[in-house]
Amino acid sequence: MRELLLDIYQRLYDHFGPRHWWPAETPFEMIVGAILTQNVAWKGAAQAIANLKDRGWLEPGRLLAAPEEELAAVLRPARYHFQKAQKLKDFCRVLVEEFGGNLSLFLAQETGPLRKRLLAIRGIGPETADCIILYAAEKPIFVIDAYTHRIFYRLGIFPERARYAEMQAFFMRHLPHDAGLFNEYHAQLDALGHHVCLKRAPRCGNCPVLSFCKAATQADIRIAKSKTQKEMVQKA
Ligand code: SF4
Repeated sequence: MRELLLDIYQRLYDHFGPRHWWPAETPFEMIVGAILTQNVAWKGAAQAIANLKDRGWLEPGRLLAAPEEELAAVLRPARYHFQKAQKLKDFCRVLVEEFGGNLSLFLAQETGPLRKRLLAIRGIGPETADCIILYAAEKPIFVIDAYTHRIFYRLGIFPERARYAEMQAFFMRHLPHDAGLFNEYHAQLDALGHHVCLKRAPRCGNCPVLSFCKAATQADIRIAKSKTQKEMVQKA
């Protein structure tokens, strides 16, 4: 299984190239982005982050002190803006009151206690917590999202109904615990799920892992083969 997972990874990487995740200038910005992108496309979260920067609120103490109504208005592009304002404040409150506002100290905790503390904060679930652990704390934990489940279900590796913890344990069991690998693997799966393995009409003829896929049809394979032959003729 380890070889198969690494083979899938390599094909994705060769196809999409490095993804340079997470798109943030600082670990705090990364965490804010992970909370703001819940249930919304990244574009909306990015606009809300830009608004926070404009107001000078992208700092734990200032964000905590920001008036709630005004903060929610600034976060409007990320939708659910009142809830997200509350979530950001709850996270910043823990940081300021328990860690003196020192994010490095907070992130320096061992993975187990760090995850437990994150999950105890209202509005932070397993996916957001694991994104923070992987991309802000740079500790090796595999992040699962809807794309991961859809892709590995279609590949024939996961059942249709699989729990977050089971899917995460699967990757943690079979892959070397390397934060760089987990960082890039999750980003590659995001690219595949976002651009190719679409929910309603997957573009299997363009898929770099087509040959592994149980859900792909003979027609998909024929399309992919004819494309490859055309490319070979063009190159010749
Ligand atoms: S071959 Fe199609 S269904 Fe399978 S992973 Fe690729 S895009 Fe998804």
